[in-house]
Amino acid sequence: MNQSADSLRDEVGGAPLPGQLVIVSGPSGAGKSTVLRQLLECCDLPLEMSVSATTRAPRPGEEDGRDYHFVSLEQFHAMRENGEFLECMHVFGRDWYGTLAAQVDQALADGKWIILEIDVQGALSVMKRRDDTLSFFVHPGSRSELEHRLRSRKTEDEQAIQRRLEVADEELSALSYYDYEIINRDVNVAVSEMCQCLKKSAREGKACLKS
Ligand code: 5GP
Repeated sequence: MNQSADSLRDEVGGAPLPGQLVIVSGPSGAGKSTVLRQLLECCDLPLEMSVSATTRAPRPGEEDGRDYHFVSLEQFHAMRENGEFLECMHVFGRDWYGTLAAQVDQALADGKWIILEIDVQGALSVMKRRDDTLSFFVHPGSRSELEHRLRSRKTEDEQAIQRRLEVADEELSALSYYDYEIINRDVNVAVSEMCQCLKKSAREGKACLKS
């Protein structure tokens, strides 16, 4: 992961790297946020996280505008009616989440690699609407490991954990729609694989991932 964005740019012919829409999904508790935080720190591509709007309450330590734009249900529906979302979904039958189209468009225009960490339904809807996506499915390898992780982070009650596990079972069946599968048993390995894959895609195009 030492190659700089400049040397990568030299390899792709000296032209500025074009922007890229990157989708990352996977069951809640798969460690996506940790992987992505580390990816942003150590993968030297012009990566940017998309900051979604949500009606969910902030968790301890979460900041408005950094982790999410925390909005009321009324605000969310107004934004939806104004066409502000690239996609939006009612996730876990409880809270609304939406990707802000303006942030994505601006990032792509600026040559950024904008990462959408979104649920499978949202991801499939973006993939259907656009053919310029590069998609990753991150999961911990087994259901028992997922359950263990969900319980040990102690952020949800039992009902929410059960709901997240049911959704995870459904989501796993969508794995084949993604370009790349990342099994997150070891965060460093997962981050390294993802970074290599993004760089390979910058050099060779998306098709290389499917081979
Ligand atoms: P959490 O509440 O744990 O932050 O996120 C719950 C789920 O909502 C995760 O699967 C996350 O990927 C998904 N999510 C977050 N933002 C969005 C979004 O803008 N759109 C969609 N469709 N899903 C989102």
